[in-house]
Amino acid sequence: MRKKVIAGNWKMNNDLNESISLIKSIKENLVDRDNVKVIIAPPFTSLDRASQLISDANISLSAQNMCYEDSGAFTGAISASMLKSVGCEYVILGHSERRTLFGENNGDVNKKMKKAISSELTPIFCIGETLEERESGEMKNVIEKQVREGLDGISEAELSGAILAYEPVWAIGTGKVATPDQAQEVHAFIRNLLKELYSENLANNTVIQYGGSVKPENAAELIGQPDIDGALVGGACLKAESFVGIIKNA
Ligand code: PEP
Repeated sequence: MRKKVIAGNWKMNNDLNESISLIKSIKENLVDRDNVKVIIAPPFTSLDRASQLISDANISLSAQNMCYEDSGAFTGAISASMLKSVGCEYVILGHSERRTLFGENNGDVNKKMKKAISSELTPIFCIGETLEERESGEMKNVIEKQVREGLDGISEAELSGAILAYEPVWAIGTGKVATPDQAQEVHAFIRNLLKELYSENLANNTVIQYGGSVKPENAAELIGQPDIDGALVGGACLKAESFVGIIKNA
């Protein structure tokens, strides 16, 4: 049985002091649930302290991005080994904000995926269509291309354990959540693609999160769908009450 994974992507929010308060508040309110894994992804500047603060809680640490190079003249970039050295186990890759605001393409995401995997960081690989792509009937082609190119050259053994996150771009930060049926349709499509590209076993064992305006009020119905294995949460993870509310309802 696949675990439910709830991950909070803090984006560019919370300085060090604010990060400490939010983590303390999440810990105070968190209820351990057997089949639910909890991950937080604070900004780089808070990762080291976050790692110390969560060491006695059932919370794992993720970064929001990383560079595919190991070291050297890449001003402003952060490597996989740097993330590991501050306690990260996960890294979010290919988030739509990285793709649209910072020009990352499927090839860049593929290089990052390979580097994360070879560095023993678990990728949370994000894919999703824009509203225009959905409305023009291109949704499945776009998602298939993101999956094929993002995973190009990655073997079944390497991909095993990685997390995928389906995040329709039109639902991110907009309050417009995909209906459970809309999300389920795409999750089943992605799982089927994994079966085609790899195997039934990998497809059945891969966690596919939904992301896009998830809140405590809509979490249960979304995560209750057969192919939705948790949530990647943006806005609602910035308050302990709503983040923990989603975990409780997962
Ligand atoms: C996200 O950025 O990954 C996200 C899902 O954001 P929000 O929950 O705010 O839509």
